[in-house]
Amino acid sequence: MKCKGCGAEIQHEDETLPGYIPKEVFERRSLAGEEILCQRCFRARHYGKLMPVRLEDFWTQLINVIKEVDVVVWILDITDFEGSYDPKIFEVLSSVKKILVVNKIDLLPRAVTVQEIDSWVRRQVLDEPFDVILTSATKRYGLRRLKEKILEFRRVLFVGVTNVGKSSLFKEITGKDVSVTPFPGTTLGLIRAKLFNTILFDSPGITTKHRLIDFLSPESQKKLTHADHLSRFTFKPDRNSVIFLGGVCRLDIDFKSELRPIFQIFANEAVKFHQTSKVKADTLWKRQYGKLLVPPFDPQELPIESLSFQEKRFELDASEELAIAGLGWLSVRRGPFETCLKTIDGIYVRKREALI
Ligand code: GDP
Repeated sequence: MKCKGCGAEIQHEDETLPGYIPKEVFERRSLAGEEILCQRCFRARHYGKLMPVRLEDFWTQLINVIKEVDVVVWILDITDFEGSYDPKIFEVLSSVKKILVVNKIDLLPRAVTVQEIDSWVRRQVLDEPFDVILTSATKRYGLRRLKEKILEFRRVLFVGVTNVGKSSLFKEITGKDVSVTPFPGTTLGLIRAKLFNTILFDSPGITTKHRLIDFLSPESQKKLTHADHLSRFTFKPDRNSVIFLGGVCRLDIDFKSELRPIFQIFANEAVKFHQTSKVKADTLWKRQYGKLLVPPFDPQELPIESLSFQEKRFELDASEELAIAGLGWLSVRRGPFETCLKTIDGIYVRKREALI
């Protein structure tokens, strides 16, 4: 038997694979003569959001869907540009028409204008002929422009990594009247909605392996991606300073000039910052992980002994930033200085032109 939503073969063994439905639920629904949807499609229909699914051939399936639509709306998160501008998605979308939607702009400080954000984004995606639309799903900013753009096409697909606000935007644009639908030749399962003569599909959020949040449970991810505003702290370190970000990222500061550097760190409000000295840092990290150095998650979920770390030196100057995917970014007010950044192995870190 196949799921009426995504078309996957119904199975009761593995929750992370397509077509899963607990046996007792399946039997109850069958007896009652109800439509059989797998757990994922059932949740999608009732909560309007597709859970990510483990598919060996995910990308092949996504490429098949992409071939059948007129435009792809690729959603990014402005507070995690490095984490959401995923190179694999970029490659898959390289030859298709796309609209780049940059969401959560309400979280940036008000001093940064929409024009500044727009030009910054365009410079990051250099030479790419994207339409760029800035949005805030929660503040309903930019939605009219996005809707107008979408209505120029017949079939539209939303894609993006998890937690960028893709399903929030999809719901805001389409309203509540959505269904889950099989897509020929795939078991992806898509949420489908109609807007005048346009059909919109929402695809499952793509999971990545290079953001700090990828190391966390879905509950902790929620904590770290849900925010009404970001935390912003200003630091004026001395030559002896070490700064911890949430206990999973350590910054050792070095500089030669007379003047002390000044920088700000932006991160979700669940991330705690702590400044200490180089002599105390090692012991502090060991003793206080999960206590004073509150990581933005339950330390039992990510025991420090289970982690391997990467270390990299960066030279930074005014008008530059250091972005740590899935965690936050450091924005230099006065430089130059050097920092040795230590964080979980695999997390993408990039020095970039300042956004703020
Ligand atoms: P998806 O995994 O990409 O579908 O992301 P969701 O739509 O589930 O959103 C992830 C989190 O980001 C949720 O806590 C949302 O409330 C929050 N979120 C989504 N859009 C925005 C936005 O424009 N601004 C802010 N501040 N939060 C947002």
